[in-house]
Amino acid sequence: MKAKVHPNAVDTPQLGPDVKKLNLIAGEWLAGEGEIENRNPSDLSDLVGVFEQAGSDQLDATLDQARVAQAAWATYGLERKQAVLMNIGTELMDRAQELGNLLSREEGKPLAEGRGEVYRAGQFFTYYAAECLRQIGENADSVRDGVEIDVRREPVGVVAVISPWNFPTATASWKIAPALCYGNAVVWKPANLTPASAVALAEIISRQDIPKGLFSLVMGSGRSIGQRLVESSKVDAISFTGSVPVGKEIAAAAIQNLTKVQMEMGSKNALAVMDDADLDLAVTLALGGAFGGTGQKCTASSRIVVHATVHDAFVEKLVTGAQAIKVGHALEEGTQMGPVVSEQQLRENLAYVDLGKAEGAELACGGQRLEMPHDGYYMSPGIFLNTTNKMRINREEMFAPLTSVIKVDSYEQALSVVNDTNFGLTSGIVTQSLARATHFRRNARTGVVTVNLPTAGTDYHVPFGGRGDSSYGPREQGKSAAEFYTTVKTAYISAGSPG
Ligand code: NDP
Repeated sequence: MKAKVHPNAVDTPQLGPDVKKLNLIAGEWLAGEGEIENRNPSDLSDLVGVFEQAGSDQLDATLDQARVAQAAWATYGLERKQAVLMNIGTELMDRAQELGNLLSREEGKPLAEGRGEVYRAGQFFTYYAAECLRQIGENADSVRDGVEIDVRREPVGVVAVISPWNFPTATASWKIAPALCYGNAVVWKPANLTPASAVALAEIISRQDIPKGLFSLVMGSGRSIGQRLVESSKVDAISFTGSVPVGKEIAAAAIQNLTKVQMEMGSKNALAVMDDADLDLAVTLALGGAFGGTGQKCTASSRIVVHATVHDAFVEKLVTGAQAIKVGHALEEGTQMGPVVSEQQLRENLAYVDLGKAEGAELACGGQRLEMPHDGYYMSPGIFLNTTNKMRINREEMFAPLTSVIKVDSYEQALSVVNDTNFGLTSGIVTQSLARATHFRRNARTGVVTVNLPTAGTDYHVPFGGRGDSSYGPREQGKSAAEFYTTVKTAYISAGSPG
């Protein structure tokens, strides 16, 4: 296929447009055992790059070097570590335009979302730069006379980071930044669908004042290099974001070595729209939550639970809004929804459209593959009406620009539907009633609850994670990250008598 690069496209910074993109193994940029092509989902004629796939010997070598580097990094002074994280964060923010463009080119989210993601990734690093200086322990008197206790956190060791394609820079950053902040080495396996963003971030980290091999990039498929990484006894902790089935496999592999695991997986987030809601606000929140990032978000609003009194008026506005969304090339200014990430994901999405119809749901709009001037994975945003919470389209994560409306007769029924799921990442309510908002906030069984805000979108300085099948292990982000990236040491000290 002849390369046809969009005028707005930028290339990976590492080695220029025509050179293969390498892995970072034990501190060296190296070729691997094979290679993959990465194409732009907005325009398949645009080859983003050819990316090397790391081999298992390289994985072993880099894990060994990571162990050595981690010991050195742990002895670096606090301000030296802080400066490293600050530099990474500042560079990401300064280059958000350029690297966001690259991200949008390979993942398919509109430019504003790509740039916003890279900027936010930078903020994770600057936040954890400050956290380098805030590692304050606890102390206590012992129950034994003359004995003092000092409780402090130490690095957990070598951390494997396995990240998905939907937020290739932000998700990786909210794992890598705390891992480094708390004194660990990192071996990162990014999703093979988004290797260019991974090389760009790794290149920035590799230029910092860090011990050789403290940070590694091992590109390759989950089934090969990912599986070997999670099975390795050289890994002390694994932080994973992705699907539930893969999460369960990773947990099963990790337990063989008693490796610490933290996993953030899918969800089936609900937005409850009450009869007292500001309907225009509710529609805006539902559209953004359902179709932002082409619906490929673990926090997407995939169930819209609507009070019967406002159902028809809300649905009319929602469908009109969805039909007005401009689907297009991610790099075109004005595009509101880019393509789906891959042919496989698009096929699965269309299968869910067929399933929903077979289950008796009414497809009010969208849900179709779109023919566009560029050959890509385009799909129109789809809305199902007349659905029940028992339908598979309301129980399984679709990761698609598809959402379902579920009609309810009361606030109590809405809450019950919101909570009737195996997942539990986010939920939201749109209401002007303080009483309902408060009750919902306290009774929704999700890790994140929003009031008059979208179900998607989280801050970096507070915990993020869910319940049920959505998460496993300690929360990510904010100070909570210390729970996973450190281990606690309790020291008993008998100083004796000064005389
Ligand atoms: P996966 O769970 O397959 O992939 C997530 C990451 O895990 C990728 O880096 C992948 O590598 C890696 N991986 C896959 N298998 C293994 C393994 N056996 N051992 C170690 N690592 C592994 O998600 P997909 O990208 O395939 O997406 C499928 C579905 O998962 C989506 O439709 C969505 O429902 C859900 N998902 C949820 C996300 C979330 O944010 N919660 C994010 C992404 C997906 P590689 O892809 O390179 O093979």
